[in-house]
Amino acid sequence: MSRGDIVLGIESTAHTFGVALLRGGREILADVRYVYRPSRTLGIEPREAAEHHSRVAGRAVKEALDKAGISMERVDAIAYSMGPGLGPCLRVGATVARFLAIYYRKPLYPVHHGIGHVELAAQFLGMRDPLVVLVSGGHTSIVGFSGGRWRVYGETLDITLGNLLDMFAREAGIPFPGGPRVEELASRGGRYIRMPYCVKGNNVVYSGLLTYATGLIGKHRLEDICYSLQEAAFSSLVEACERALVQLGKREVALTGGVASNNCLFAKMKELEGLHGVRVDRLEKRLNDDNGVQIAVVGHLYLASGADPCPPDEAIVRQRVRLEEVEVPWRE
Ligand code: ATP
Repeated sequence: MSRGDIVLGIESTAHTFGVALLRGGREILADVRYVYRPSRTLGIEPREAAEHHSRVAGRAVKEALDKAGISMERVDAIAYSMGPGLGPCLRVGATVARFLAIYYRKPLYPVHHGIGHVELAAQFLGMRDPLVVLVSGGHTSIVGFSGGRWRVYGETLDITLGNLLDMFAREAGIPFPGGPRVEELASRGGRYIRMPYCVKGNNVVYSGLLTYATGLIGKHRLEDICYSLQEAAFSSLVEACERALVQLGKREVALTGGVASNNCLFAKMKELEGLHGVRVDRLEKRLNDDNGVQIAVVGHLYLASGADPCPPDEAIVRQRVRLEEVEVPWRE
């Protein structure tokens, strides 16, 4: 492994088929994304999304190589999202990765998608030992590194924060993904409607909030419902995060995943800086969303640590796999 090693990362857990080329773990040579937009429904249809990924996969790999100005021979390793995610979508990425690894004789690394979000934030924000708040459609987890693994110190006990916003939006007739539109509506609201607020230890619970907020549609201004929904959901997450932060004594907080782009959530998290003298930060929106770079970053970390690559015939996908199940050989 040399500093200039190039890793090709493939992301395909859900709506996005992404291919990135990353040099030396930091330099993005290419970051190509094709995003599936549901046609018939307001939510993701796994098989339709997988068909989309199959259609664009070859084009995405070629485009990434062209953008980087390199051929496959110059790539040093291949990494792909092994899960968690939608089975049909995951299988497209894994199949492409296995083919490339076998045909071009490259080492192959299956990557946990959530760890991709976590390490991309930690590495690119320059945080050595952060508490990571991962908020997306698939995760709402408060994560810290300890004893050889990224461990979950708090999480949602039911639906994720992304699901809460998307499902509420769907009920309000807003197409997927609803989070950005809910944020925009909320910025025009301001009258707080009392909402269920549920924190259990370091964990949050959102399904009661979803039911309650949905029941208000048509009875109040949508802007005020969105504002109140965000207030309750985000404040409870920040409370859970603050507790974990104090318990673990971490000095840095990284906010990551698609919902991290929400400015109201980021502002609330930022208040922890003044209260606890810690640094709170996030990446630019493009890197919070699902992308191939997050997979390539972890592929690079595996490669740099000297970890054994995965034999292609053992490179499977796992629809359900928790973050703490994965051993992390690249951190002390
Ligand atoms: P995971 O990454 O865990 O597999 P995912 O596939 O849903 O989940 P992301 O792309 O990280 O992936 O996040 C998408 C989620 O982010 C959606 O729920 C979307 O509504 C939400 N989101 C995006 N932008 C915003 C925003 N500005 N405010 C709130 N939510 C947002």
